[in-house]
Amino acid sequence: MAQKKIQLDTSAKKTWCPGCSNFGILATLKKVINNLHQRGTAMEDIVLVSGIGCSSKIIDYLGLNSFSSLHGRPLVSGEGIKLGNKKLTVIVLAGDGGMYNEGIAHLVHAAKRNVDITLLVHNNRNFALTTSQFTATSPQGFKGGSSPEGSVEEPLNPLALMLSAQASFIGRGYSFRLEGLEQLINKAVRHQGFSFIDILQPCITFFDTTDSYNKRVYAMEEKDLTDEKKALAKIKEWDYQDEKANIPLGIFYKQERPVYENMLLKDLSFSRGDKKINFKKILKEI
Ligand code: SF4
Repeated sequence: MAQKKIQLDTSAKKTWCPGCSNFGILATLKKVINNLHQRGTAMEDIVLVSGIGCSSKIIDYLGLNSFSSLHGRPLVSGEGIKLGNKKLTVIVLAGDGGMYNEGIAHLVHAAKRNVDITLLVHNNRNFALTTSQFTATSPQGFKGGSSPEGSVEEPLNPLALMLSAQASFIGRGYSFRLEGLEQLINKAVRHQGFSFIDILQPCITFFDTTDSYNKRVYAMEEKDLTDEKKALAKIKEWDYQDEKANIPLGIFYKQERPVYENMLLKDLSFSRGDKKINFKKILKEI
Protein backbone atom coordinates (compact mmCIF):
# COMPACT_ATOMS: atom_id res chain seq x y z
CA MET A 1 0.00 0.00 0.00
CA ALA A 2 1.34 3.46 -0.92
CA GLN A 3 2.42 5.48 2.12
CA LYS A 4 0.88 8.91 2.76
CA LYS A 5 2.98 11.92 1.81
CA ILE A 6 4.77 13.13 4.91
CA GLN A 7 4.65 16.77 5.94
CA LEU A 8 8.22 17.62 6.94
CA ASP A 9 7.96 21.37 7.62
CA THR A 10 8.95 22.70 11.04
CA SER A 11 8.12 26.00 12.74
CA ALA A 12 11.77 27.20 12.52
CA LYS A 13 12.09 30.54 10.77
CA LYS A 14 14.11 30.24 7.56
CA THR A 15 17.06 32.60 7.85
CA TRP A 16 18.62 32.02 4.41
CA CYS A 17 18.79 35.10 2.15
CA PRO A 18 15.62 35.43 0.03
CA GLY A 19 16.22 33.50 -3.20
CA CYS A 20 19.14 31.46 -1.81
CA SER A 21 19.61 28.27 -3.77
CA ASN A 22 19.57 26.29 -0.52
CA PHE A 23 15.76 26.52 -0.76
CA GLY A 24 15.93 24.29 -3.84
CA ILE A 25 18.01 21.71 -1.99
CA LEU A 26 15.52 21.77 0.89
CA ALA A 27 12.57 21.18 -1.46
CA THR A 28 14.49 18.36 -3.16
CA LEU A 29 15.41 16.70 0.10
CA LYS A 30 11.76 16.67 1.15
CA LYS A 31 10.95 14.77 -2.04
CA VAL A 32 13.83 12.34 -1.51
CA ILE A 33 12.69 11.62 2.04
CA ASN A 34 9.12 11.09 0.94
CA ASN A 35 10.42 8.77 -1.76
CA LEU A 36 12.35 6.78 0.84
CA HIS A 37 9.20 6.57 2.97
CA GLN A 38 7.13 5.39 -0.01
CA ARG A 39 9.66 2.60 -0.47
CA GLY A 40 9.17 1.44 3.10
CA THR A 41 11.74 3.32 5.21
CA ALA A 42 10.23 4.46 8.50
CA MET A 43 10.62 8.17 9.24
CA GLU A 44 12.29 7.38 12.57
CA ASP A 45 14.95 5.40 10.70
CA ILE A 46 16.16 8.46 8.77
CA VAL A 47 18.78 10.65 10.47
CA LEU A 48 20.18 13.94 9.19
CA VAL A 49 23.53 15.22 10.43
CA SER A 50 24.93 18.68 9.79
CA GLY A 51 27.80 20.90 10.87
CA ILE A 52 27.86 24.70 10.84
CA GLY A 53 27.20 27.07 7.96
CA CYS A 54 24.36 28.20 5.70
CA SER A 55 24.04 24.61 4.42
CA SER A 56 23.70 23.16 7.87
CA LYS A 57 20.64 25.21 8.80
CA ILE A 58 18.69 22.80 6.59
CA ILE A 59 18.19 20.27 9.40
CA ASP A 60 16.19 22.87 11.37
CA TYR A 61 13.68 23.00 8.54
CA LEU A 62 13.01 19.26 8.34
CA GLY A 63 10.97 17.46 10.99
CA LEU A 64 13.20 14.40 11.29
CA ASN A 65 15.69 12.94 13.74
CA SER A 66 18.81 15.04 13.35
CA PHE A 67 22.10 15.92 14.97
CA SER A 68 23.90 19.24 14.72
CA SER A 69 27.62 18.52 14.90
CA LEU A 70 30.68 20.77 15.07
CA HIS A 71 31.99 22.76 12.12
CA GLY A 72 33.66 20.39 9.67
CA ARG A 73 32.87 17.32 11.82
CA PRO A 74 29.46 16.03 10.73
CA LEU A 75 30.88 13.04 8.87
CA VAL A 76 32.39 11.43 11.95
CA SER A 77 29.10 11.95 13.80
CA GLY A 78 27.24 10.38 10.88
CA GLU A 79 29.65 7.44 10.83
CA GLY A 80 29.20 6.93 14.57
CA ILE A 81 25.41 6.98 14.24
CA LYS A 82 25.57 4.38 11.45
CA LEU A 83 27.90 2.14 13.45
CA GLY A 84 25.57 2.42 16.45
CA ASN A 85 22.56 1.31 14.40
CA LYS A 86 23.15 -0.12 10.93
CA LYS A 87 19.42 0.00 10.17
CA LEU A 88 19.43 3.81 9.96
CA THR A 89 19.61 5.79 6.73
CA VAL A 90 22.12 8.54 7.48
CA ILE A 91 22.36 11.68 5.33
CA VAL A 92 25.11 14.17 6.15
CA LEU A 93 24.80 17.79 4.98
CA ALA A 94 27.76 20.14 4.93
CA GLY A 95 29.23 23.13 3.14
CA ASP A 96 32.42 23.32 1.10
CA GLY A 97 34.21 25.23 3.87
CA GLY A 98 33.31 22.65 6.49
CA MET A 99 34.01 19.62 4.32
CA TYR A 100 36.86 20.63 2.00
CA ASN A 101 38.69 22.79 4.56
CA GLU A 102 38.15 21.87 8.24
CA GLY A 103 36.78 18.38 7.71
CA ILE A 104 38.87 17.22 4.78
CA ALA A 105 40.68 14.48 6.72
CA HIS A 106 37.34 13.02 7.82
CA LEU A 107 36.12 13.19 4.24
CA VAL A 108 39.05 11.18 2.89
CA HIS A 109 38.76 8.51 5.58
CA ALA A 110 34.98 8.14 5.30
CA ALA A 111 35.39 7.56 1.56
CA LYS A 112 38.22 5.10 2.08
CA ARG A 113 36.30 3.15 4.74
CA ASN A 114 33.14 3.00 2.65
CA VAL A 115 30.69 3.59 5.47
CA ASP A 116 27.15 3.32 4.11
CA ILE A 117 26.11 6.96 4.47
CA THR A 118 25.32 9.78 2.01
CA LEU A 119 27.17 13.07 2.04
CA LEU A 120 25.67 16.15 0.34
CA VAL A 121 28.09 19.08 0.08
CA HIS A 122 26.39 22.42 -0.61
CA ASN A 123 29.29 23.90 -2.54
CA ASN A 124 28.90 27.67 -2.82
CA ARG A 125 32.68 28.08 -2.95
CA ASN A 126 33.02 30.47 -0.04
CA PHE A 127 32.44 30.62 3.72
CA ALA A 128 29.08 32.36 3.25
CA LEU A 129 27.76 32.36 6.83
CA THR A 130 30.73 34.41 8.00
CA THR A 131 30.24 36.88 5.11
CA SER A 132 32.58 35.31 2.57
CA GLN A 133 36.10 34.07 3.03
CA PHE A 134 37.75 31.84 0.41
CA THR A 135 37.47 28.05 0.70
CA ALA A 136 39.28 25.15 -0.96
CA THR A 137 36.99 25.37 -4.02
CA SER A 138 37.04 29.17 -4.48
CA PRO A 139 38.67 30.07 -7.79
CA GLN A 140 42.07 31.69 -7.89
CA GLY A 141 41.52 35.45 -7.74
CA PHE A 142 38.43 35.12 -5.52
CA LYS A 143 37.90 38.38 -3.61
CA GLY A 144 36.36 37.97 -0.16
CA GLY A 145 36.77 38.99 3.46
CA SER A 146 40.08 37.15 3.85
CA SER A 147 41.41 37.80 0.34
CA PRO A 148 40.55 41.41 -0.62
CA GLU A 149 43.25 41.39 -3.31
CA GLY A 150 42.13 38.01 -4.64
CA SER A 151 43.02 34.51 -3.41
CA VAL A 152 46.31 33.25 -4.85
CA GLU A 153 45.42 29.58 -4.31
CA GLU A 154 44.21 27.30 -7.08
CA PRO A 155 40.96 25.44 -6.27
CA LEU A 156 40.73 21.83 -5.23
CA ASN A 157 38.72 19.46 -7.41
CA PRO A 158 36.76 17.54 -4.74
CA LEU A 159 35.58 14.87 -7.17
CA ALA A 160 39.15 13.99 -8.14
CA LEU A 161 39.99 13.76 -4.44
CA MET A 162 37.06 11.42 -3.84
CA LEU A 163 38.05 9.19 -6.75
CA SER A 164 41.55 8.78 -5.38
CA ALA A 165 40.15 8.16 -1.87
CA GLN A 166 38.08 5.28 -3.31
CA ALA A 167 34.61 6.74 -2.70
CA SER A 168 32.21 4.15 -4.10
CA PHE A 169 29.64 6.68 -5.41
CA ILE A 170 30.69 10.07 -6.81
CA GLY A 171 28.21 12.56 -8.23
CA ARG A 172 27.66 16.24 -8.94
CA GLY A 173 24.31 18.06 -8.82
CA TYR A 174 23.16 21.65 -9.20
CA SER A 175 20.69 23.49 -6.98
CA PHE A 176 18.99 25.08 -10.01
CA ARG A 177 18.49 21.70 -11.80
CA LEU A 178 16.26 20.10 -9.23
CA GLU A 179 14.84 17.17 -11.17
CA GLY A 180 18.33 15.84 -11.88
CA LEU A 181 19.38 16.55 -8.31
CA GLU A 182 16.45 14.58 -6.91
CA GLN A 183 17.23 11.56 -9.09
CA LEU A 184 20.90 11.78 -8.14
CA ILE A 185 20.24 11.91 -4.38
CA ASN A 186 17.71 9.05 -4.65
CA LYS A 187 20.40 6.91 -6.26
CA ALA A 188 23.05 7.98 -3.75
CA VAL A 189 20.85 7.08 -0.79
CA ARG A 190 20.07 3.67 -2.29
CA HIS A 191 23.75 2.95 -2.99
CA GLN A 192 25.35 0.57 -0.45
CA GLY A 193 28.50 2.40 0.64
CA PHE A 194 29.84 5.92 0.92
CA SER A 195 27.95 8.20 -1.48
CA PHE A 196 29.39 11.61 -2.19
CA ILE A 197 27.57 14.40 -4.04
CA ASP A 198 29.05 17.83 -4.65
CA ILE A 199 26.06 20.14 -5.16
CA LEU A 200 26.87 23.37 -6.96
CA GLN A 201 24.93 25.85 -4.84
CA PRO A 202 25.39 29.47 -5.92
CA CYS A 203 25.53 31.94 -3.05
CA ILE A 204 23.50 34.75 -4.57
CA THR A 205 24.71 37.23 -1.94
CA PHE A 206 28.48 36.75 -1.94
CA PHE A 207 29.45 34.69 -4.98
CA ASP A 208 26.70 34.46 -7.56
CA THR A 209 27.75 31.88 -10.13
CA THR A 210 24.19 31.20 -11.33
CA ASP A 211 24.39 32.72 -14.83
CA SER A 212 27.73 31.11 -15.51
CA TYR A 213 26.59 27.65 -14.31
CA ASN A 214 23.28 27.90 -16.18
CA LYS A 215 25.17 28.29 -19.46
CA ARG A 216 27.64 25.50 -18.82
CA VAL A 217 26.01 22.60 -16.96
CA TYR A 218 24.88 19.48 -18.82
CA ALA A 219 23.57 16.07 -17.76
CA MET A 220 25.90 13.13 -18.44
CA GLU A 221 24.76 9.82 -19.83
CA GLU A 222 25.04 7.04 -17.30
CA LYS A 223 27.40 4.43 -18.72
CA ASP A 224 30.64 2.70 -17.71
CA LEU A 225 30.28 3.97 -14.16
CA THR A 226 32.91 1.56 -12.81
CA ASP A 227 35.67 2.73 -15.16
CA GLU A 228 38.07 4.92 -13.13
CA LYS A 229 39.89 6.33 -16.16
CA LYS A 230 36.65 7.45 -17.81
CA ALA A 231 35.44 8.88 -14.51
CA LEU A 232 38.65 10.89 -14.13
CA ALA A 233 38.42 12.21 -17.68
CA LYS A 234 34.87 13.44 -17.01
CA ILE A 235 35.87 14.88 -13.64
CA LYS A 236 38.68 16.80 -15.33
CA GLU A 237 36.35 18.48 -17.84
CA TRP A 238 36.04 21.22 -15.24
CA ASP A 239 38.70 22.12 -12.68
CA TYR A 240 36.57 24.58 -10.63
CA GLN A 241 38.65 27.41 -12.15
CA ASP A 242 37.97 27.66 -15.89
CA GLU A 243 34.95 29.89 -16.41
CA LYS A 244 34.35 28.66 -19.95
CA ALA A 245 34.49 24.88 -19.46
CA ASN A 246 31.33 22.81 -19.59
CA ILE A 247 30.26 21.30 -16.27
CA PRO A 248 29.02 17.69 -16.26
CA LEU A 249 26.25 16.74 -13.82
CA GLY A 250 25.23 13.26 -12.70
CA ILE A 251 27.09 10.15 -11.56
CA PHE A 252 30.80 9.98 -12.42
CA TYR A 253 31.69 6.75 -10.69
CA LYS A 254 29.95 3.92 -8.88
CA GLN A 255 31.35 0.69 -7.59
CA GLU A 256 30.16 -2.06 -5.25
CA ARG A 257 32.65 -2.89 -2.53
CA PRO A 258 32.45 -4.17 1.06
CA VAL A 259 30.78 -1.78 3.47
CA TYR A 260 32.81 -0.77 6.53
CA GLU A 261 30.22 -1.40 9.24
CA ASN A 262 29.51 -4.92 7.97
CA MET A 263 33.20 -5.79 8.16
CA LEU A 264 33.83 -4.07 11.48
CA LEU A 265 30.76 -5.34 13.31
CA LYS A 266 30.99 -8.92 12.07
CA ASP A 267 32.76 -10.06 15.19
CA LEU A 268 33.11 -7.69 18.07
CA SER A 269 34.95 -10.00 20.46
CA PHE A 270 38.53 -10.13 21.58
CA SER A 271 40.49 -12.17 24.09
CA ARG A 272 42.06 -10.87 27.27
CA GLY A 273 43.99 -13.68 29.01
CA ASP A 274 41.60 -16.65 29.02
CA LYS A 275 38.57 -14.39 28.92
CA LYS A 276 36.59 -13.71 25.74
CA ILE A 277 35.16 -10.20 25.78
CA ASN A 278 32.19 -9.48 23.53
CA PHE A 279 31.35 -5.84 22.85
CA LYS A 280 27.92 -6.59 21.43
CA LYS A 281 26.93 -8.26 24.72
CA ILE A 282 28.32 -5.33 26.72
CA LEU A 283 26.46 -2.80 24.56
CA LYS A 284 23.20 -4.70 25.07
CA GLU A 285 23.67 -4.64 28.82
CA ILE A 286 24.29 -0.86 29.02
FE1 SF4 B 1 22.48 31.52 0.76
FE2 SF4 B 1 24.75 32.87 0.44
FE3 SF4 B 1 22.74 33.91 1.82
FE4 SF4 B 1 24.14 31.88 2.81
S1 SF4 B 1 24.90 33.94 2.40
S2 SF4 B 1 21.91 32.12 2.85
S3 SF4 B 1 24.54 30.69 0.93
S4 SF4 B 1 22.73 33.41 -0.37
